[in-house]
Amino acid sequence: MQRSNVATFMDLFTLLRTQFAAQPKAKELGLKTKDFSFNTVGGRCEQCEGLGQVDVNLSFLSDMKVTCPSCKGQRFQDHVLSVQFKEHSIADFLNLSVEQSITFFETKSKMNTLLQLLIDVGLGYLNWGQALTTLSGGEGQRLKLAKELSQAKKGHTLYLLDEPTSGLHMTDIKHLHTLLSKLVDANNTVVVVEHHTMMIESSDWVVDLGPSGGDQGGELIATGKPEEIAKHPDSITGQFLFQ
Ligand SMILES: [Zn+2]
Repeated sequence: MQRSNVATFMDLFTLLRTQFAAQPKAKELGLKTKDFSFNTVGGRCEQCEGLGQVDVNLSFLSDMKVTCPSCKGQRFQDHVLSVQFKEHSIADFLNLSVEQSITFFETKSKMNTLLQLLIDVGLGYLNWGQALTTLSGGEGQRLKLAKELSQAKKGHTLYLLDEPTSGLHMTDIKHLHTLLSKLVDANNTVVVVEHHTMMIESSDWVVDLGPSGGDQGGELIATGKPEEIAKHPDSITGQFLFQ
């Protein structure tokens, strides 16, 4: 998991490595696509095996990670780092955010489309090299959603999401809703556990559980279209809809 990051998960990194290998400097140095990987032997730094960090053994304490003294955290060998694309080395790309890098790639290109999907699910602020282990639950869900949307639509799939809007701004919630609607339009079913009124208002069917949260919840209060929930005498959620 330490080696999985946003770029590898979204298959952006493979595309980027191909891009780097195609640069004149890479050809001059005889570097191939695989040399721009930090997972395989070739262009990566071997002292840290491409992780940018090494373990330091402190006998009575738990092991500590420090920046690799050989590559200074850059994860690659110097000649690999000397190859640039849009004035950035492969290591620089891992430190760029999705938003910062999208203009480097032509509109409608595969790369641009993937980056735009990440922005659409409200993850444009993430760095390419951000390890998946550091993402919050909500971020992880939205990342998986972006990946799902990037692949050929199969249809007839059930998507179950637990509070996907948590931590998102209003504009991002609107984007997320648009994407979820696309899944529904493509013959899939989306079930969202959600408190956000905008998400509830724009769904096709609501199952209102209550009357309160935790131990005081779990009872079926009302079911129906959002408009019907809003008028239901027993629904507390309903009182907050369409305000
Ligand atoms: Zn190193």
